[in-house]
Amino acid sequence: MPNSETFRDQTDRRIALVTGGARGIGLEIVRRFLTDGYRVAFVATKATNVERALGLLGCSEDRVYAETVDVTHQDDVAALVNRIRAHWGEIAVLVNNAGISPKRADGNAPWIPQTSIGDWEKVIHVNLSSAFILIKLVVPGMMAKAYGRIINIGSLAGRAMPLVAGPHYAASKAGLIGLTRAAARDLAPHGITVNCISPGRILSDLTGPPGDAVNRAALQRIPVGRLGTPEEVAHVAAFLASPIAGFITGATIDVTGGEFAA
Ligand code: NDP
Repeated sequence: MPNSETFRDQTDRRIALVTGGARGIGLEIVRRFLTDGYRVAFVATKATNVERALGLLGCSEDRVYAETVDVTHQDDVAALVNRIRAHWGEIAVLVNNAGISPKRADGNAPWIPQTSIGDWEKVIHVNLSSAFILIKLVVPGMMAKAYGRIINIGSLAGRAMPLVAGPHYAASKAGLIGLTRAAARDLAPHGITVNCISPGRILSDLTGPPGDAVNRAALQRIPVGRLGTPEEVAHVAAFLASPIAGFITGATIDVTGGEFAA
């Protein structure tokens, strides 16, 4: 366990926490970080998904640590951060990836009259407030080490007119971009970078089978002519998480196949 006041070497800089790491984009970020030599903790809500992911990753307990934690349960999240600290040391890389995008039965997004205040609050809590809470929890440890990498997984729906996402989802992801910029400004003097990745249409459970009507319609809007893969988002996360990305902060990086590129 690291015991100096600074991250002394690459090993100390390779302790990561990824929320929503049991499936889709989060699972590929966990896999990529493991390949890059990190020790990775991840959380998700369903025990079966956590167990399945651990089986797929096939790593030893000293490399990967997973728990069933809902990121909206503040006390549970704080306890998790403390356990990781006790287990491995301070978290050097945080990826706020957990997210939900409630849809109607036909796969399309609810519009404002169909969006209840309860749904609004839930999406804002999972997608946005949890990121703020986790940033607050990990930053003291990063500041003590004068090093940190925070990556928020936003969405094209937070950057452009949302075509397949509800108002709660679009607002939560636009909010993540604002949070990214504010945190980047505050934390830059402490050696901590904060960036946002803005995926477009990426194949995962959240977007459903490639052949469904919403995905087929999306193909018409994507200049590269296909949907993205979770691995393509993980490559960008791996770069932003690395020490060589130290001059990039407050940025939002599109991974959209050219769709509505800013
Ligand atoms: P998935 O639905 O495939 O996976 C989401 C993961 O987040 C799951 O592991 C899920 O847990 C976890 N999760 C959801 N809610 C919570 C919670 N309250 N606490 C802890 N974990 C939670 O989504 P994607 O991989 O597609 O998306 C990942 C991120 O990327 C999200 O933030 C999403 O908004 C964003 N994104 C995705 C796009 C896409 O096209 N796929 C496009 C743009 C952005 P469990 O497995 O237990 O259910």
